[in-house]
Amino acid sequence: MKDTYGREISYLRLSVTELCNLRCRYCMPEDGVLKKRHEDMLSHEEMVLAVRAAASLGVTKLRITGGEPLVKPDIVSLCGELSGIEGIRELCMTTNGTLLPKLAAPLREAGVDRLNISLDTLDESKYHRITRRGELSQALEGIESALREDFAKIKINAVLIGGFNDDEIPALAALTRHYPVDVRFIELMPMYDSGDFGPEAFIPYTVVKEKLPELEPVKADGGVAKLYRLPGAQGNIGLISPVSAHFCAQCNRIRITADGKIKPCLHSSEEISLKGMSLEEMKQTLCRAILEKPQWHGELSYSERSHADRTMNQIGG
Ligand code: SAM
Repeated sequence: MKDTYGREISYLRLSVTELCNLRCRYCMPEDGVLKKRHEDMLSHEEMVLAVRAAASLGVTKLRITGGEPLVKPDIVSLCGELSGIEGIRELCMTTNGTLLPKLAAPLREAGVDRLNISLDTLDESKYHRITRRGELSQALEGIESALREDFAKIKINAVLIGGFNDDEIPALAALTRHYPVDVRFIELMPMYDSGDFGPEAFIPYTVVKEKLPELEPVKADGGVAKLYRLPGAQGNIGLISPVSAHFCAQCNRIRITADGKIKPCLHSSEEISLKGMSLEEMKQTLCRAILEKPQWHGELSYSERSHADRTMNQIGG
């Protein structure tokens, strides 16, 4: 289905929980989130229904996100059901990877095709600092476990944070030499409550090109990342610039939060509830949300912050 600006909406990001086993400083408050009532969240059945409704409107790519999707107890059976929905051609997941040692194989079996694994640093103490509790070894073991399964693609996502990991750009990029993975650097987005980062933390994607002059351009694959490759590497380097060079004109996505709100745009406060609806009502509501998708997300900067009105773990990134 096309939105008012002619964009074909074919990509749904479904957040399956707001809860997470980490507390990344740019994403989530230190003391977690106020746990909502079970009945206020989308049920397993409603999630399946919402994806069926979206697929009937032309969504072909589904990404499961969170919070941390792997802390959801029924995640494997949910993925099994979602991957079987007619029209869904690609089932992807974004995860911090720490629970993949146990779950990589069952997820692949359940039909998950692609994984994005978040990893902002290769330094043990910095990993603990940015996640406020995580252990780097668990994330790395998660990546190793995923690499043993035959996922169609594994991408490592690093949020670019000036003064924190800009010195690690070459080391993170070198993962594409050692493993068959893509590494993507994503500009830090100024959510209304994204930790204690000062203006210096918000660095543009062009810093990566300055640090890696040997990068060779690669033909775009239809996604939002500008693609490059290190000579001789096995995977691409993707640069994602929601702040310094927005890609709203190519935005083909809608989001559904774990509490059942459709977000036509990540950075808008507009939300439309799906909770408690039938398949037909969900279809109509999704149509309305797609038609209300704004043309662009408005100025984003350290001083012009997102209007999302939620922390990222409550949206799904
Ligand atoms: N827990 C999972 C994970 O860590 O990948 C999935 C949810 S997380 C909200 C999804 C993605 O959003 C992660 O790659 C995370 O780094 C990114 N993210 C969260 N807050 C962000 C921010 N303020 N700016 C840029 N990316 C952000």
